[in-house]
Amino acid sequence: MGMSGVRIVEQSGAAHANSASGPDVVLLAPFDGWAAPLNEVPDPVFAERMMGDGVAIEPLGSVLTAPCDGEIILLHAALHAVTLRAVNGAEILMHIGLDTVALGGRGFTAHVVQGQKVKAGDKLISFDLDQLAQSARSLITPFVLTNGEGFAVERRVENVRVARGQALMTVRRLTSAPAGAAQGGREVRRELVVPLAHGLHARPAARLAGLAKNFAAEIVILSGEARANIRSPVALMGLGVTKGARVIIVATGADAEQAVGALAGLIEGGMGEDTAAPAADAIPASRIPVLDGALAGVRAAPGIALGVAVRLAQPEIRVDENGQGAAYEMQCLGAALAVVKQNLQAAAGKNATLSAILDAHLGILHDPELVAEARAAIAAGKSAGYAWRGAIQGQVAVLRGLKDRRLAERASDLVDLERQVLAALGGVEAAAMRLPQNAILLAQDILPSQLAGLDASRLAGLAMAEGGPTSHAAILAASMNIPALVACGPALLEISDGAVVLLDADRGRLTIDPSLDVREKIALEIAAKREARRAAQASAQMLCHTKDGVRIEICANLGSVEDAVTAVAAGAEGCGLLRTEFLFLDRQSPPSEAEQAEVYRAIAGALGGRPLIVRTLDIGGDKPAAYLPFPPEENPALGLRGVRVSLWRPDLLATQLRAILRGIPLAQCRIMVPMIASLDELRQVRHILDQARADLNIADPVLLGVMIETPAAAITADILAAEADFLSIGTNDLTQYSLAMDRGNARLAAQFDALHPAVLRLIAATAKGGDLHGRRTGVCGGLGSDAVAAPILIGLGVRSLSGTAGQIAELKAVIGSLTLEQCRHLAEKALAAVSADQVREQARGLNPGD
Ligand code: PEP
Ligand code: MG
Repeated sequence: MGMSGVRIVEQSGAAHANSASGPDVVLLAPFDGWAAPLNEVPDPVFAERMMGDGVAIEPLGSVLTAPCDGEIILLHAALHAVTLRAVNGAEILMHIGLDTVALGGRGFTAHVVQGQKVKAGDKLISFDLDQLAQSARSLITPFVLTNGEGFAVERRVENVRVARGQALMTVRRLTSAPAGAAQGGREVRRELVVPLAHGLHARPAARLAGLAKNFAAEIVILSGEARANIRSPVALMGLGVTKGARVIIVATGADAEQAVGALAGLIEGGMGEDTAAPAADAIPASRIPVLDGALAGVRAAPGIALGVAVRLAQPEIRVDENGQGAAYEMQCLGAALAVVKQNLQAAAGKNATLSAILDAHLGILHDPELVAEARAAIAAGKSAGYAWRGAIQGQVAVLRGLKDRRLAERASDLVDLERQVLAALGGVEAAAMRLPQNAILLAQDILPSQLAGLDASRLAGLAMAEGGPTSHAAILAASMNIPALVACGPALLEISDGAVVLLDADRGRLTIDPSLDVREKIALEIAAKREARRAAQASAQMLCHTKDGVRIEICANLGSVEDAVTAVAAGAEGCGLLRTEFLFLDRQSPPSEAEQAEVYRAIAGALGGRPLIVRTLDIGGDKPAAYLPFPPEENPALGLRGVRVSLWRPDLLATQLRAILRGIPLAQCRIMVPMIASLDELRQVRHILDQARADLNIADPVLLGVMIETPAAAITADILAAEADFLSIGTNDLTQYSLAMDRGNARLAAQFDALHPAVLRLIAATAKGGDLHGRRTGVCGGLGSDAVAAPILIGLGVRSLSGTAGQIAELKAVIGSLTLEQCRHLAEKALAAVSADQVREQARGLNPGD
């Protein structure tokens, strides 16, 4: 699970810094050559000093020698770059030529190894100058101070010829330097395997860059021979890191350890991404043949639509190459970026999927490398538009060149931002396209912002000549319930506007001008589906009962105020699980009592008096927090997590309980404890809760329930229920622990099914234990949103379900169509089944009454 394959190598610079004879170190030229200012290096990473301050040298010699006494702290695997830590703690990177990593070590010979102590003038790396001259973009060798915060570069020599051993610059350690820098920068590395199904694509990259902003440390991610500044989402995407790839996070600085812990935790925790999605090549990228009378495509969002073809208007945006002065163009670019930022922020919040995508776009918009590249082009005389387009297109080419199709699909996010910034530069407001009723939009490729700007009530379907099923436009279409096809080929764009088309995303085909018979049949099918959905939606606001009147509570799981608003609109009768981790993760210190209380108050308000079950902090295991440095654990899923963390840090629990009591009206408030394994844990929490009530002068009792997530809790539910006010089954963890299968392991995903009879028997035991003491048993794990499972759960004795808001209408409709007796019959058969597959077959295929 999370920590497997993790290796931590720490190197502290403190000893060297402390043994420094003085704050100044003179760096000597590492070879004969021409010393040039750094801003002449044709690479913005160096020219803009993103890697640090220093000088550059055009080599005339072919052996790189040590510029001072020190230690080799990094020798790149491609042998083209080496970093040396001087005795005063300064770290100096020498990067021989540009893009020389691509040579994979050809033409380079190392004379040192990582960790070796060297003296000024010792040979570090020999290189074949002729070979480099032919294959490298440039021979210029940046010579930069990478931990510059605590140092100043002085007396640098530039624009002159230098001889090896001649003084090149002085690096002075500042006495008022930040602690980490003064210690020479502490380097922490961690190697890990990326579990995200789609690798480090735009959204994870933007989240990593966002999290990195909380730390002062210099942080890079190494993947094979490539490296990327973690603060640059575009560079991270450009690494082409796919699921299962090994990467190394390297951080240097006072808070390096926290930074690495937090970033590794974020990656290993899965970032809420599907870790079990099919492999990237599950759908062949090759074109699919034209079927008789129909175009074939790849399903990007499910459903069928019959409507009128409309071609997406895609005006070309032209830009002048030459600028009107660098200062003016820089200002224009800054203003345009600000406008787009504002637009993105305003558009977020319409829908949770869109918000996540727009967050990623915001990350790209602020990408330091992208912006630096555009600025460099402006400095070279180009217009802001030309510079921005050039910077974006460079990265688009990188992404499209990657083997991983999913990452290549992220190129359209960059193109989207290219268009938006160019539109802002031209002062053009993106006018929304007017659609006829029942429009089936045909496009080469549609950008997320274009799709978000359309009138969804008129859009029946979407077909793209290009695009991919995991593009953001596809994800967005699915979240808007719009059937979509991608990769239909160029023939799609030959369909004339106004033609009647039948888009059947489920079967992957688009039929032009279908016969009247087909139209009628499909129209009836669509109408029946629409009616069923409409009826379900119409009764979604009613309280849920079985056909024979047994009350079943249908709630939603929440993680934010926005979720609460969406859930109520979807018919949620309350919140069955508020995951409070969102308040505690991705930050440097825990939220204060007041901050928490305010958020809980807002969520309770959005629920309008409906019950709100707040889960106390479920942190640890797969969700580490930077400010809670757990000792490394062999098996984090079996270690300090859930209630165990709360009892290890009762101060955090007490603060959270007071915040809950202050923020949520008592009539609405229920508190739930995760990962309970024994009664004693519940007793300890109740003791702390009683103390919190006393602190706040609350005399009335507060409902305190337990999550049943361990087999131990399930089979002792009768004991727990004697003291717990309610039981709520977390089927995700209960399945993980009862089947002994890591819930995040993609290889086990197909067998990881909470409908396994073993899990169902534990659920039955839980409900029975609850009944014994008159306690209500609910389900709030993934099974709580599963309409196939709902009748079985009710038959087993569950009386409350909580899951995703989008499933509420269907759950209520299914439950309302069955009697308790029918549910019990299904449950009995399920308990006797031999596998989860058989349970699903029984539940799906059979009339529950037979
Ligand atoms: C569960 O384990 O089923 C559950 C609801 O908790 P989480 O998914 O947050 O671990
Ligand atoms: Mg859980």
